[in-house]
Amino acid sequence: MKRIRIALQKKGRLAEDSFRLLSEAGIIIPAAGERLRVPAINYPLEAYLLRDDDIPAYVADGVADIGIVGENVVYESGQPVEIIRRLGFGRCRLSLAVPKDSTIQSIEHLHGKRVATGYPRLTHHYLSEMGIKATIHALHGSTEIAPSLGLAEAIIDIVATGSTLLLHGLREIHTFLHSEAILIQRRGDTQTYEDFLFRIDAVLAARQQKYILFNLPESALPAVLKLLPGLKSPTVMPLAEPGWISVHTVVEEKLFWEIAQQLQGLGAQGLLVMNIEKLIR
Ligand code: ATP
Ligand code: MG
Repeated sequence: MKRIRIALQKKGRLAEDSFRLLSEAGIIIPAAGERLRVPAINYPLEAYLLRDDDIPAYVADGVADIGIVGENVVYESGQPVEIIRRLGFGRCRLSLAVPKDSTIQSIEHLHGKRVATGYPRLTHHYLSEMGIKATIHALHGSTEIAPSLGLAEAIIDIVATGSTLLLHGLREIHTFLHSEAILIQRRGDTQTYEDFLFRIDAVLAARQQKYILFNLPESALPAVLKLLPGLKSPTVMPLAEPGWISVHTVVEEKLFWEIAQQLQGLGAQGLLVMNIEKLIR
């Protein structure tokens, strides 16, 4: 099998989750130390550990085959890469924020104002799309302090929880883009990375599902079967107590609470919920 070269963030918000995804897929990358190229111990893969901003270019130029990076960084880079998988971590959004007492109440009020941003390309794109003419100040970090320093009246930057904005007395008034970590390849790359994606998909699928089991009066089974989507059909086993069964199945995490309540309504007892490590459909 050909060795896959993957570009990963060396340090920062995506680094740990990226390594965890690979390790749950059974691909172990040893501690890098100062090294920037690290081969996996047990899989034909080599990790290039980079600043996240450089990852799209490495992939677009074919220096790395694939990469894990935030969507926001990919769009800002303008590099010709495409999304292979959405990875479900590193969620954030690109938003417009202003000082709490600002007269800027909506995006239209930005007209003629100054905006500080770490995302000049995206800012330019969204503002011109909306016909708003503002002066864009491109910064490499700490945009939150720009308004209080008098450099700009507003900022456009990445927000996750909003706590940094709060800390700087800023208020979010518009969101342009929602972002998460993505797996990318070069646009036009015809390789399929099948074996690698087989593993990644098993981990991603498992993360979205829960294994549940519960006890149920046998008479309630038909109603429960209608309720449960499951993988195929749930496993049903008799309990020692006559008239009672144990039902095992897999449910989507996002549906879990709704289903749990309905199951209880149908007489289910002792509902156990477990994480799934891998799921191969
Ligand atoms: P590098 O040193 O690799 O250039 P960085 O400082 O540019 O790192 P990080 O702050 O580590 O980048 O963020 C990496 C990515 O994590 C962002 O591009 C974004 O996709 C995502 N992210 C998730 N939550 C946040 C957040 N609260 N603030 C900023 N980025 C976030
Ligand atoms: Mg960066």
